[in-house]
Amino acid sequence: MIRSKVEELQAIFGEKNVLTEIEDMVAYSYDASHVEIQPEAVVFATATEQVSKLMQFAYREKIPVTPRGQGSGLSGGSVPLKKGIVLCMDKMNRLIDFDPANRLITVEAGMTTADIDPIAAKANLFYPPDPGSVAFSTIGGNVAENAGGLRGLKYGVTKDYVKMMKVVLPQGDIVTMGNKCVKHVAGFNMEGIFVGSEGLLGIMTEVTLALLPVPEHRESALAIFNSLDGAARAVSAIIAAGVTPSTMEFMDNVTINSIQNFKDCGLPRDGAAVLLIETDGEKNSAIAEMAKVEVEVKKNDIREFARAKSTEERNRLFEGRRVALNALASVRPNLILEDATVMRSKLPDMVRGISQIAAKYGLQIGIFGHAGDGNLHPTILLDMQDKDEKARAEKGVAELFQLAIDLEGTISGEHGIGLEKKPFLQNQIGAEGIRMLQNIKKTFDPLNLLNPGKMFDMPEQQSA
Ligand SMILES: Cc1cc2nc3c(=O)[nH]c(=O)nc-3n(C[C@H](O)[C@H](O)[C@H](O)COP(=O)(O)OP(=O)(O)OC[C@H]3O[C@@H](n4cnc5c(N)ncnc54)[C@H](O)[C@@H]3O)c2cc1C
Repeated sequence: MIRSKVEELQAIFGEKNVLTEIEDMVAYSYDASHVEIQPEAVVFATATEQVSKLMQFAYREKIPVTPRGQGSGLSGGSVPLKKGIVLCMDKMNRLIDFDPANRLITVEAGMTTADIDPIAAKANLFYPPDPGSVAFSTIGGNVAENAGGLRGLKYGVTKDYVKMMKVVLPQGDIVTMGNKCVKHVAGFNMEGIFVGSEGLLGIMTEVTLALLPVPEHRESALAIFNSLDGAARAVSAIIAAGVTPSTMEFMDNVTINSIQNFKDCGLPRDGAAVLLIETDGEKNSAIAEMAKVEVEVKKNDIREFARAKSTEERNRLFEGRRVALNALASVRPNLILEDATVMRSKLPDMVRGISQIAAKYGLQIGIFGHAGDGNLHPTILLDMQDKDEKARAEKGVAELFQLAIDLEGTISGEHGIGLEKKPFLQNQIGAEGIRMLQNIKKTFDPLNLLNPGKMFDMPEQQSA
């Protein structure tokens, strides 16, 4: 980037908050997916007004800007496809307001997700969305990807907790959307449009989130199955029986063994699959719900139903689930992680279909994920340098997405479209759906400068 433009950035952000050295460009060229593209400059915002000035500058100079939280996204969302400037939001991480009476918290968008709970806990409240990346992802990144988590089955996902937000629009306007009231219908549901917008429509700088009272009690158990099918059927049976556990996480044998090789978390190496299940709420009802769960799982090819006898045992099992991705990543040089999602009743078909795809293309696929949400993470373990294996994996991924669509599901339950799933979105929402998204993008960002090249192609994209 030419000197005068760097100086203008330094005038907005201060010298220490502007990076242009090559080693820094490498550090901000990737997220947790596979794509790597170096920006021309990286800036760190500490105030909304700076973000506004940046966008005015970017629009005047026609420079692409890519917002970034902690870069833990799994779909290439914070990779600067068209180079330009990476805007890091992680220094905007302050608490703005904690309002226990209304069960609300307002934070800067760069706050780490896990930093909410210690504040909320002071009033016996908690923030339910808990992605596996809770310890490092940001609230802005969670909102932009509509992140889910291990408690999504009972408590929903990020969109269910977003009340209000301050956003900088692509041309620099600062707007506040939503409201702190329980009910609010003054104008369009604009905060809703920003949830899952993947950094394409504006930059969130502040977010107000709803909190819930901490449940009085929780019961945790590990159900160990003799077959993948049994575990998948058990999920459907539990829901059909009218029970809503807070957590119902699935791990297959490949995942179990990868975790145990990575760290001993007490998982059974010889189980075909496990479900990590938790019920919570008022003590008697949590206990009664777990009893119903036990009845249902025992009808479905189960080998053992083991209740966690202590908090330590429970935490060890949950740690196993949280390190699943890292553990699978250590098996082969690369992995391709997907998050195709189906209705829970279609989980057995999905699991069978994934196994067939693995056999057809000779692929090693580990499956884990939020089974209670119908959200599996089939994870292809491979060596991308092996051209043949890579080509087989790409065919497998395409079939996997088609399988989810054929089962009335979705190509993404929580990781977003970003770059890697972009070619498949039209299969799910049609050409008209893509046109509608393009028109919305054009309304917000007529020059296509904010995170260009993601989710869908813009007709005039070549000129950005
Ligand atoms: C080990 C691991 C486990 C994970 N588990 C889960 C899981 O259980 N559930 C789940 O949903 N995801 C999970 N993820 C994916 C990822 O953590 C989430 O998508 C998370 O929300 C990304 O947050 P981030 O701050 O890292 O955002 P980034 O990756 O930096 O950015 C993600 C997107 O948000 C945009 N963005 C970031 N901040 C802003 C902002 N302030 N305003 C506008 N746009 C913005 C970026 O442009 C980009 O498009 C996991 C990832 C890893 C590595």
